[in-house]
Amino acid sequence: MAGASVKVAVRVRPFNSRETNRNARCIIQMKDNTTCISNPKQPKDGAKNFTFDYSYWSHTTPDFVSQEQVYKDIGEEMLLHAFEGYNVCIFAYGQTGGGKSYTMMGRQEPGQEGIIPQMCEDLFRRTGENTDPDLQYSVEVSYMEIYCERVRDLLNPSNPLRVREHPILGPYVEDLSKLAVTCFSDVHELMDAGNQARTVAATNMNETSSRSHAVFTIVFTQRRRDQMTGLDTEKRADSSGAKGTRLKEGANINKSLTTLGKVISALAEMGCKKRKSDFIPYRDSVLTWLLKENLGGNSRTAMIAALSPADINYEETLSTLRYADRAK
Ligand code: ADP
Repeated sequence: MAGASVKVAVRVRPFNSRETNRNARCIIQMKDNTTCISNPKQPKDGAKNFTFDYSYWSHTTPDFVSQEQVYKDIGEEMLLHAFEGYNVCIFAYGQTGGGKSYTMMGRQEPGQEGIIPQMCEDLFRRTGENTDPDLQYSVEVSYMEIYCERVRDLLNPSNPLRVREHPILGPYVEDLSKLAVTCFSDVHELMDAGNQARTVAATNMNETSSRSHAVFTIVFTQRRRDQMTGLDTEKRADSSGAKGTRLKEGANINKSLTTLGKVISALAEMGCKKRKSDFIPYRDSVLTWLLKENLGGNSRTAMIAALSPADINYEETLSTLRYADRAK
């Protein structure tokens, strides 16, 4: 079973038109939290079962799992941890077109919004209900892309930024825009602008863009004024949503994803066996180094593997399931 601090979910998307046109067959089955993948070349005995915290189906009703349900299971729990002062990190992983953006960002139609917008909306709703005059909240967001071990600011796309280390606060990106937001529409605007910057860059980079990672961070600060002393106590939580793409074997190993896999499984192992944290290879990639405070220590992590249902993607889907399986 998954360690207490890492939740693992898999989500299979509906067929896309390319798969439908090629008469692709569905090789994924789900029952409760178990996902079964069958091998199209050995339909009889090539099936493999994997168990996760959640297995999300998106085909015919009544088993269809909505964006709202995914948020309720994963996003809301993480938001509550952030209110408790934990750093939280939710990341989506899987091949291009697997459904990462749909799960994290979604579409701007009723019922179609992904985890990040639902989480922001919920955050502002909850802080808006606060009636305690001694408790104050502030929210800031940043949005960056990591590509070939370089960091780009999606809210101010310019030259690559430098990664530095603060002696107390840990790794950070120098000069990364961090913008204050006071309502949900502020967040929407920044998300749209950042997604637009990503799309433009992806077009310029052609197919290599499938090896980039987007990290959307919400810095949520709660300040409590002590009535006796008049001093403020600050509680900060960082919520990151990261989207990574497929693990590509061969000459062009994706360092961030390989390292992320190692970090997550080392953390899961540490949870069970009380392994020492200096075994965790955060420094081996920019993604894991920057997410260090969100993945280990005082943090809660969720991972969602996004899958295609089609036989034509068997190899990729199996490798995504194995990757998710290692995170447990
Ligand atoms: P990725 O970000 O992994 O490259 P996308 O999120 O862009 O993939 O998904 C590819 C397409 O499939 C998009 O058109 C998206 O709207 C659709 N899609 C993905 N997951 C789902 C889902 N669970 N339900 C409905 N449509 C989905």
